[in-house]
Amino acid sequence: MKRSAFPFFVFFLLTFTLNAHASLLGIRLGKQENHTRIVFDLSEKVPVESVNDGGLRVILSAGRNSNFKNPREVGIIKEIEVDQDSLRRTKVLFKSSFAVKILKSFWIAPSSSSSHYRYVLDIAKGEDLPNPVLPSFAKKLKIVIIDAGHGGQDPGAVGYRETLEKNVTLAVAKKLAATLNESGHYKAILLRKRDVFMSLASRLKKARALKGDVFISLHADSHPRPDTRGLGVYTLSSVASDKEAERLAQKENKADLIMGIDLKDELPEVSNILIDLTKRETMNLSTKLAQSLVKNLGKYAFLLRNPHRFAGFVVLRSTDLPSVLIELGYISNKKDEELLLSEEYQDKICHGILEGIEAYFHR
Ligand SMILES: [Zn+2]
Repeated sequence: MKRSAFPFFVFFLLTFTLNAHASLLGIRLGKQENHTRIVFDLSEKVPVESVNDGGLRVILSAGRNSNFKNPREVGIIKEIEVDQDSLRRTKVLFKSSFAVKILKSFWIAPSSSSSHYRYVLDIAKGEDLPNPVLPSFAKKLKIVIIDAGHGGQDPGAVGYRETLEKNVTLAVAKKLAATLNESGHYKAILLRKRDVFMSLASRLKKARALKGDVFISLHADSHPRPDTRGLGVYTLSSVASDKEAERLAQKENKADLIMGIDLKDELPEVSNILIDLTKRETMNLSTKLAQSLVKNLGKYAFLLRNPHRFAGFVVLRSTDLPSVLIELGYISNKKDEELLLSEEYQDKICHGILEGIEAYFHR
């Protein structure tokens, strides 16, 4: 048994190793008399998948060569998107205003005229589409809305060395957006990108309009006791989990008072403290997201004793958007403040959040 399995193991290992180094050198399109020819130039023969669902998607188990240039649209192809997935495969989407049919596909081995492999796809116009469906890779990305707490005239909490909460939240928010976008699975949208004031009501309105998949509000707390430290993840509840969470929610909800904004005028439904039972599903999802974040952030950050807490945070009141608020730490604590100002620690936290979001979506 062992003897016969061994060569297969070597074969798989070899295939994997080869594919890991395979590269896509280029893609060429040419218009022929009755069809459009697409040629993929590759360093090796690699697995190719193609899906034809209103646009032709081709996935090649190869990374793009450094000299790779995006191909130009020819024939029935009106737009081309090239992307890479988390497995370092290259995904190419050929968009057409027609349904596309594949006439044939074949490999051409290296020869005296060409030193690399070529994968050829001959395509032609299929049935007309009544409403051209132009699916995009971008649309398949989950949208994460990131809310950097406070800003402008509202500095938020003030730290041990007078660090302002609004600056910490913005720095981490920007880093988190970059981390999520780089993963290739998410499209991160920042509610504020600069040091500007935004009312809680306008944050809620904007978040709802963006139709995101999850909402993450970033904050950093302060405490009269300088030794209080740790990260906590909060979700919405009409009843607070503890006195501390209640105190925190009251403090965070005061952001609007600075500009004299009355929430009741801005967003009538927000004034209703009782949360409708129909919103339970969103609340359940928020809880799952919070638990997943706590579990993954715990690998990188010092957590509060009960790291998942809940209270009546206004900014988490979207009815259809799973929402959490992360208090990254206490900037009134010397150690937490120091960590939150270091890029290295900010990177760690962002990775923890990314892992938490990944676990949430693959639950
Ligand atoms: Zn805050």
